[in-house]
Order: sequence, then structure tokens, then C-alpha cells
Amino acid sequence: MTEQTAPQDPDEPEGGTEEIPAPTTVPDQGVKKTKRPSPRPDVFFTPVSNGMDYLVSVLKHLTEGATPPSARDLKYTVLHLQAATEVLLKARLAREHFSLIFADPLQAKRDAWQKGDFKSCGTLEAFDRLLNIAGLPLEEDDRKRIRELSDHRNALQHYGLKYNAYAIESRAARVLDFLITFIHRYLIPGLKPAEAMSVERDMDMFRMKLKGIEMLVKQRMNDLRSELAKVADVTVKCPDCEQWAMVADGREEGPTCLFCHQVWPEDPESAAANYAWIILGLDDHSVIQDGGDPPVADCPDCGVYALVAQAVTTPGQPGVTPLCFACGTVFNNLVACEGGCGAVLSFVPDGESIPMCFDCIDTRLDRF
Ligand SMILES: [Zn+2]
Ligand SMILES: [Zn+2]
Ligand SMILES: [Zn+2]
Repeated sequence: MTEQTAPQDPDEPEGGTEEIPAPTTVPDQGVKKTKRPSPRPDVFFTPVSNGMDYLVSVLKHLTEGATPPSARDLKYTVLHLQAATEVLLKARLAREHFSLIFADPLQAKRDAWQKGDFKSCGTLEAFDRLLNIAGLPLEEDDRKRIRELSDHRNALQHYGLKYNAYAIESRAARVLDFLITFIHRYLIPGLKPAEAMSVERDMDMFRMKLKGIEMLVKQRMNDLRSELAKVADVTVKCPDCEQWAMVADGREEGPTCLFCHQVWPEDPESAAANYAWIILGLDDHSVIQDGGDPPVADCPDCGVYALVAQAVTTPGQPGVTPLCFACGTVFNNLVACEGGCGAVLSFVPDGESIPMCFDCIDTRLDRF
């Protein structure tokens, strides 16, 4: 028996950074590093207008600079989108009860909240509490995007920018879409009339700009249509940009996304693991714990650990189509080896009535 160590929670690499007391200061717009002395007491931002302010910045960086946006614009897009999400979710959560935005609600103190001097919960925790405690009908897909955004923000802070403009644009558009609906449904109704009006005004501008970004994404997908049609049977959703443009056709350079140009250079194993985790939400640990088969297995054709049995391809959706991310083989009838070795077989060896791999057959023969 080996000692089991708790796996690191992949959901929340780092706790939240934004404390949400009643008043807050203006976010850094990334325009200039101006010296900020002590916050002016007459500048009063409610959490909602603070979140809106971050969104203004996100849209500015996404739409007003170069096309596609520069690395610097993308950096602030990610940072401020994450901050906006955190502030806005917590603003709604605090309306339920202020203690809910504390990392540990049992330790909540009104005084600490008013001073903004406390450890607050993470963005994903805020999302979960809105769902489970406040009872808002939020969707799993949105949770996944917020989780990715947090991961992305942390990666950016620790390792620098890794994703390219197209991937960030496409992903940011989806988070923006979620936030705009969230503000409209769950935040505006509780605001004082004057603030509600000013938020509504900003919202009109947000929707217009978001339309513009979505148009760019759509246009780009349209331009790729004929190219993608040729490889549709080995095309899946890209873990980086979430467009149906990741082609795993066994090409030498590795699986490649035609939309965002992400390549997994000669590394189909990572592409398969990334895909299983980000797009399908399957990771080894939780799947095996639930008694399921591991999300990635050795390919019966090429032997590379890059077979995703639950893959969903463009023509196969919404059903599953087992696809090897290394050799690009699509399998129709896969069976698990009944010898208990975890191997996946594409055929039942001749003369055998039960599916078993050659290794397991040999082991069984040895025993007799
Ligand atoms: Zn992509
Ligand atoms: Zn293969
Ligand atoms: Zn076996």
C-alpha cells in the first residue's frame, strides 16, 4: 500500500487576489505607471462599477489597438478580464451575504469586510457559491472558462504570455459574453437607479464591441472553412481557442490548430492530455477514482500514448469518436482488454472469444 497524497487542486492554482470591500480604487488601466499616492477618499467605486471599469479596459485593449492585438494588449486583456470576473461575481455574492466572500465564511467579521482587510475566496469558489448557495442557474461551461482564465492569468504572471492573439481573442469573447449576461441578469436588478443607468449605458457599448470581436472570430473561421472541410474527420475542438479547428491527422509537426496556430510540436501525448482535460474535463486522477477508463491510452495502431477514446470530432459530434492524436487514426470499435492491463484493443485476436491483448494472453498461458 502506498501512501496517497492529496493531488493539487487543478481548479485554483492561486487564491483570489481581489478583496471586495465596499469601496475600492480604480484598476490599473495599464496605460502609464503613474505614481498613486494614498487613494483619494473622494474617489468612491462600488464593486460593480469597479468590475465594469476592468471590462472597459479589456474591450479597449482588445479592440482599439493593432489587429491582431499586441502582446501587451493581450496581457492586460487576460489580467483585467480575470479581475473583472472576480469582482463582479463577488459583488453578487456579497449581496447574498457579505460573509460568503470570505475564504472561510465562519471567520467572517463585518468590521474586517468594511475595511477590506480579510482573505477572500477564489473566483471559482465564488462561482460555486453563487450556484450552490445563492441558487443562480450558472452553467458548467462557464465554470470551465473561468477556471481556464484563472489558470491562464496565473501562467501569465509566472511564465509570461504563452497563448497567441487568436486564442486569447476567441476565449475572451466567451467570457465577456458570460459576464455581460451575468451583469444584466443578476447585478443590474439590485442596483440603485442612478448606478443602474450608468451601468446600462456601458453595457450597450460592451455589447457592440463584443459583436465586433465575435465577427472577427467568425470571419476567420469562415476563411478556414474549405481547408477544415478536408480534414473534418480528424478535427476536434482546440483546447487553446475552443474553435473546431484542432487537426490531429498524424502530420509530422504534431496536432495543429488551424485557427489559433497552436502546435504541439512532436508532442501528441501532451496534445491528447490537454484536450482530454480542457475540452472533455477528464483527468486521470478523477476518472480512475470514479472507476472509469483513463482518458488517454496507448494507441493500438501506433503505440503512442495519445489515444483519446472519448474524443468528439466535427462530423461525429455530439457522439464520441475514438481518435489517436499521434497517427490520426479514427477507431470504430474499440474494446478494453479484459486481462485487466488497461490496454485498448481495436480488434479481438483470432481464435479468442474474449477481448484480450497478446501480453495478457501470454501471461495467462504461462500460468498453466
Ligand atoms: Zn486553437
Ligand atoms: Zn496512433
Ligand atoms: Zn491486456
